[in-house]
Amino acid sequence: MEKYNPSKEELASIMKKSPDDMTDIEKEIWKVEVLRSVAETTVKCREILSNVEKTKVKLRDTEKVGAEFEKKWQHFQDKFDKTLGTSATKLDCSVKKSIEGVLKKPKKMSPEDASGLLKEKNNIVILTGASLSAASGIPTFRGNDGLWTKKYKYCETPEELATLKFFKAHPEVEWQCTHDFYELCKNAEPNAGHKAIVQFQEHCKLNGKQCHLVTQNIDDLHARLIRESEILKPTVTSEGEPGFGFTDSVYEIHGNLSYSRCSQECSKALKPVQVPDKELSLEDQIPKCEECKSIMRPHMLCFDECYTQELHQVQTIKNIINSKVDALVIVGTANATTMANKLVNECLSRKILTINVNLEPCCDFGPVIEIKGKPEEILPKLFGSFKPESLKSKVKCKKFVKNVNPNGLKEKQKTYSTALRVIASVIKAEQIGKREKCSI
Ligand SMILES: [Zn+2]
Repeated sequence: MEKYNPSKEELASIMKKSPDDMTDIEKEIWKVEVLRSVAETTVKCREILSNVEKTKVKLRDTEKVGAEFEKKWQHFQDKFDKTLGTSATKLDCSVKKSIEGVLKKPKKMSPEDASGLLKEKNNIVILTGASLSAASGIPTFRGNDGLWTKKYKYCETPEELATLKFFKAHPEVEWQCTHDFYELCKNAEPNAGHKAIVQFQEHCKLNGKQCHLVTQNIDDLHARLIRESEILKPTVTSEGEPGFGFTDSVYEIHGNLSYSRCSQECSKALKPVQVPDKELSLEDQIPKCEECKSIMRPHMLCFDECYTQELHQVQTIKNIINSKVDALVIVGTANATTMANKLVNECLSRKILTINVNLEPCCDFGPVIEIKGKPEEILPKLFGSFKPESLKSKVKCKKFVKNVNPNGLKEKQKTYSTALRVIASVIKAEQIGKREKCSI
């Protein structure tokens, strides 16, 4: 058969025909064309398959590279982190070292030895915090036990509860918590730590030394002992008089929850908190201002408030620190609050003797004497050597002089001779004390 090469148009026309309408030549052309087309498609399919295979291989390689890259990246990250961490630590260390170069390193010391250092000082500040009252059963604010973890309505965290914003939104809940805390404090007793501090304050007052107690606690335990002290007893105590609720022997920089004041500040006078009638609704338990009938607020510095001179005596404390303070004793505080932090930093920067009585160190550099332990165990040892016998005699002497009756000579003579005997016993006690000191 003669080979026939149709044109493209002829081929297209043949391919559209029905086999019945085709000539023999056209049928032959159709067969050849179909076979060619099948062969062409097969080739194309093979090509596609081959490409898919190639892609699969490439994908596998990529996966391998990906895993490899991931591994290398991780290694790089680890190395980077490590290097960064080491650099940060090195930088931190070098900064601390340079500070330590100027100052001194923290030093561990027994309370008895630290006590010896205090004897040479004349203007001492004692800064106390929540851990001091832990032994009296007052839970620390951020502690896991006790009152603060008790769930109060509308309140997620203890921090939220101690804000003015929360008080304004839910004063009845704020007062429910305040009343709970007030009752807890009222039933608590000052512990050996509080007692050792007040004894040291008395010693300082009788010996012409200055001892300023600054507390972050709002539990009234320091103030209670001071009110009971014959030597430190504040002169102004009557309700309604200026200064009521404050004593010059303790600066309560965060307030005192035994007192309340007008939330509208018609006056800044403090009023004692009372145990509420629990039969009343929470709203009715909120105390009201006698002057303007607004609700009262607890006398406590909230997290969203600033310190003031009038309520927190903050300028007085700054003046004390900036004057002639020669020793700072930190007790049971992490110095997390602004004022405490400033106070400690100021003393450290001026290289003032700083003694930290705490379970945790207060700062990891600076001229700090660290006495690790519970305040109620350490403070009696730190302050116990301040001659309690001599102190007692002096109190006795002071009482006699105070009770002198100006009428009646016999009475006078009797009182004077007794006073002289007491003074003689004081001198004797002091001489014994001096001898003991010399023998050491
Ligand atoms: Zn008022």
